[in-house]
Amino acid sequence: EKLTVCICGGGNGAHAMAGLAAAHAQTESRVLTLFQDEAERWTKTMEKNDFIILQNLPDGSVREIKAKPSMVTKDASKAVPGANIIIFCVPAFAHQQYFNAILPYVEPDTAIIGLPGQPGFEFQCFDVLKEKARRCAILSYESLPWACRILEFGKKILGAKDSLVGSKITGKSNLKLDPAKTLQSMLGEHPVLKMANNYIEPYLMTKAIGLDEFGAACLSGVSDEVVATAKAISEQKPELNQSHVQHLLEWYRQDYRETVADPTSLLTAMRTNAAYNGLVHPMKDAGNGKWVPDFNYRYTSEDIPYGLVVTKGLAELAGVPTPYTDKVLTWCQEKLGKEYIVGSELKGKDLKESRAPQAYGYKSLDDLVALL
Ligand code: NAD
Repeated sequence: EKLTVCICGGGNGAHAMAGLAAAHAQTESRVLTLFQDEAERWTKTMEKNDFIILQNLPDGSVREIKAKPSMVTKDASKAVPGANIIIFCVPAFAHQQYFNAILPYVEPDTAIIGLPGQPGFEFQCFDVLKEKARRCAILSYESLPWACRILEFGKKILGAKDSLVGSKITGKSNLKLDPAKTLQSMLGEHPVLKMANNYIEPYLMTKAIGLDEFGAACLSGVSDEVVATAKAISEQKPELNQSHVQHLLEWYRQDYRETVADPTSLLTAMRTNAAYNGLVHPMKDAGNGKWVPDFNYRYTSEDIPYGLVVTKGLAELAGVPTPYTDKVLTWCQEKLGKEYIVGSELKGKDLKESRAPQAYGYKSLDDLVALL
C-alpha cells in the first residue's frame, strides 16, 4: 500500500530523511520547509540535478542513494493532507511554527514523529494540536539517526548512529501502520530504533547537560540529579517507569566504549573520547580581531530551553532538589540573556519560552500521566 511521508524542515536532517523516504518502496516523500526561500531554492536545484545521498557504511564504503522528494513546498495545504507520517527534522526552536502550520491539515491516525523531538516535544504538540493530537500517534526520538551535513543544497553525507531511543504516545489513534517499524525500514539497518518505557524517559536521558566548561564535577552533579529525578518519578508513578535512565558516565562507558580510551571517570571519559576529536567550542568574532565563546550556539540556545529547563521542571514535579542544575541554569540563562529560574524555582519571566511542563500548565506528575 502507498505511504505518504511529510518531512518538516530544510536543513541537514531534513535533506537526509527526504532522500531516504523517497528511496523507500511505494513511498511518496514530501518536504515542508517554512524557512525563508528554502523551498524555492531546493525545488530549483532539483529541477536540474539529481538528489543524492552519500551514506558512509561501517565497512568504509560509500553507498549512493538517488531519489527525489515529490515536492518541496512552504505550503502546508499541499504537503500535509494525506500524509500518513509527519516527521519533524528541524531544530527544536522551529517546532512551534511547524505545529501551527500543520494544524489545519493533520488527519486522524497520522503518526507525528520528532526526529529528534527533544524534551517537551509532546507538551508543545498537545498545546498546539489539542484534541487532534489525541487522535494521532506521537513519537519522539532522542537524536537524529545520523551525523550528517549538506554538501550542496541537494547532496549530503551521512554516518548512521548505532542505536536510537524513542517513545510513543498512542492516544486514541488507530494507525494502519506501525510508525516505528516503518521508520526503521526507511532508515535501513542502522540506527536500530528502540522503545523507551514512556515519553518522559527520553527527557531524562537527554545529553543536553553536556556543558563541559563547568567541569566534570558540575556535569556529574547534574547527571546525579537527573538520575534522582528518574528514581523519584518511577517510585511515585509506576506508569512513568524511568528504568532506562542512567548516569552520563555509564552512558559514555556503553555507547562510546569503542572510542573512549580511559573510562575511569567522567572527566577521563570525556577527555579521551576520540569521537570528539575535531569538535571545538563554537566561537564568534568579537569585532576587534578577537574571538569569544558563542553562548548563543545551539549547545546553549537549544539545550537549555528544550533540555535542562525541562529536566529541572520534572525534578520540581517529582520533589527532587537540584543544586547543581540550578547553578548551571543560572549561569547559562545569564549568558543567553534569559530568565527561566529564580533561585531554585522555575518562575522566571521567560519560562513560557521553554518546554518545561510548567510552561504548559502541568502542575503534578498526575498531569503528565494523563497524557499517556
Ligand atoms: P540544521 O542546522 O540543518 O537546521 C537548519 C534548518 O532549520 C534550516 O535549513 C531551516 O530549515 C531551519 N531553520 C533555521 N533557522 C530557522 C528559523 N529562524 N526559523 C525557522 N526555521 C529555521 O539542523 P539539522 O542538522 O538538520 O539538525 C536537526 C536537529 O537535530 C537539531 O536539533 C540538531 O541539534 C540535531 N542533531 C543534528 C545532528 C547533525 O549531524 N546534523 C546530529 C545530532 C543531532
